[in-house]
Amino acid sequence: MRRYQKYIFSFIATCVLAFNVYGQTKYYLTAPRLFDGETMHTDWALVVEGDKIISVGPSQTIAIPEGSVQINYPNATLMPGMIEGHSHLLLYPYNITDWDTQVLKETDAYRTIRATVHAEKTLLAGFTTARDLGTEGAGYTDVALKRAINEGIIIGPRLMVAGRAIVATGSYGPKGYDLDQEIMLGAESADGNDLIRVVRDQIGKGADFIKIYADYRWGINGEDRPSFTLDELKLINEVTRSSGRVMVCHAKSKEAIRRAVLAGAETIEHGDFIDVALGKLMKANNVTYIPTISAVDVISQYRGWDKGGAETPLNVLNKRQSFKDAIASGVSIGMGGDVGVFPHGENASEMELMVEYGLPTMDALKAATSVNARAFHLEDRLGFLKLGFIADIVAVGGDPSKNISDVKKVKFVMKEGIVYRKE
Ligand SMILES: [Zn+2]
Repeated sequence: MRRYQKYIFSFIATCVLAFNVYGQTKYYLTAPRLFDGETMHTDWALVVEGDKIISVGPSQTIAIPEGSVQINYPNATLMPGMIEGHSHLLLYPYNITDWDTQVLKETDAYRTIRATVHAEKTLLAGFTTARDLGTEGAGYTDVALKRAINEGIIIGPRLMVAGRAIVATGSYGPKGYDLDQEIMLGAESADGNDLIRVVRDQIGKGADFIKIYADYRWGINGEDRPSFTLDELKLINEVTRSSGRVMVCHAKSKEAIRRAVLAGAETIEHGDFIDVALGKLMKANNVTYIPTISAVDVISQYRGWDKGGAETPLNVLNKRQSFKDAIASGVSIGMGGDVGVFPHGENASEMELMVEYGLPTMDALKAATSVNARAFHLEDRLGFLKLGFIADIVAVGGDPSKNISDVKKVKFVMKEGIVYRKE
């Protein structure tokens, strides 16, 4: 009932706010602070008309347009709609249902229904754009999800989707079942020249970018080891690039990161064993690092780590060190938490961990806005509060440049000039 009421509320709010007798609604937004994607300003105002920001600057210089809807949030901060860099809308936390069960036993239909709710939670948490990194066995349901959001059938962030993602034969899970069974994998296997066909097939079915597992925990002792050869990765990248898309790589081990960067990957996902030298190599190649600290943190907790207790697991200690090395290397660090492993709507927990692990608070804010916008080629329209940009705007309580957790105090969410949440 509560959810139903919320839908009714947001529908009515949207209707009332989105149309008036003058045609396109204008909004005049003010708050004590405005973070424009790079800089925090005091006492700025912003005007939205239709789906665009038509003025932004010190409030004394911005006239209140006639007939505009005036919204002021005292003790709040206006900021760009945030960009989630690494989500899995088709997954939900493994402490509720483990990954194997979600992939093998749940139907795509059931998983898609859940994903519609995940999408709504993501948007209402202030994330107006999300890059989704693979459906993990749910085919191209992400392409359908994106379409339903674009058509206004359901509400959610603007999506960039990977589809099935690509793994090397033998590397990926689910694993450990009777070998006489043909087990459906969480991604599509391909090798050698067949990668050409699979990349093109995924593009044809709606992938906005190609997601590769450049390594996997298939080492002889279960350690992360490279899957594809450098030549295979170069081939994938060449075929992907010729379609105007980009290759992004899951890569934890040093050698997989190195190969992925040399082959032309645009982002490195996870990078658990990144070091200063690799960070510098990434920087030199204009590659953005998406750390997914949350994934390591919550999976360790699911395995029994008492966070705050005496003993910190080795993989958490390692992640902390590698994140510090990444900062020291000067590589561009975007924001993406592997959300889905932890609850959708709690995306900003990744930003809290980035700060906890040593990133300056302002840099965590930039990571989820301007840095991700640049990394995903959106910087001419999203990730900033700038004149002419798409009106994706969030208001959060307090000052997230002082206390990063304030990004979770979401009071207002606008996407393309439409209000989805208003306190
Ligand atoms: Zn992931």
